Amino acid sequence: MSETLCYEAHGNLYLNITNRCTAECEFCIKRYADGVYGYNLLLDREPSVDEIIGVLKESDLSQYGEIVFAGLGEPLTRLDDVIRITEWLKEDGEEVRIDTIGHVKLYHGDRHVARELREAGVDAVSLSLNAHNREIYNQICHPEKPDAYASMLEFARDLVKVGIRTQLTVVSLPIIDIERCREIAREIGARFRIRGYGRRPPSHKRR
Ligand code: SF4
Repeated sequence: MSETLCYEAHGNLYLNITNRCTAECEFCIKRYADGVYGYNLLLDREPSVDEIIGVLKESDLSQYGEIVFAGLGEPLTRLDDVIRITEWLKEDGEEVRIDTIGHVKLYHGDRHVARELREAGVDAVSLSLNAHNREIYNQICHPEKPDAYASMLEFARDLVKVGIRTQLTVVSLPIIDIERCREIAREIGARFRIRGYGRRPPSHKRR
């Protein structure tokens, strides 16, 4: 397939496995671009696990700091596929991170998702906190489910509890109380990062 399934940036390899998402954030790149770093990340169809692993097999993965599930969509809409690909990556000892909006518990209430991710070998999760309360969150992220904010925070606590390195992030918007967000991260035991609007031009290559 011709779509960009993975791309290099900041010394990492990013995997673009879906365009589906459980939110409609006001600041989403999808609203004003087809991708990042000049790459079109819109997928005609979702690549299968075998296709993704096939592409990864052709790469020298040892050159990357992390293999990151990210892209133009929410990777954990494909929870089982993320787990399978992670297990494959960990056979070779790669560092694996997931960038997520963190609604996954709402869709898999019968599973302990954080524990499953830990058991698969996920090393780190970067979770979009995005707001200091539910009201603002729903206003700017438009989640499919109204209880997404509380569920996302619960997921963050689960991740910390099972020992996955967890970072909460926010976009620096005037409507966001950044200091309250920083406190929330500290209370949970996660690191905190402010995401900028712009992106540094990385070294990269198309696959
Ligand atoms: S969670 Fe990410 S992919 Fe989904 S709408 Fe928000 S910014 Fe876009």
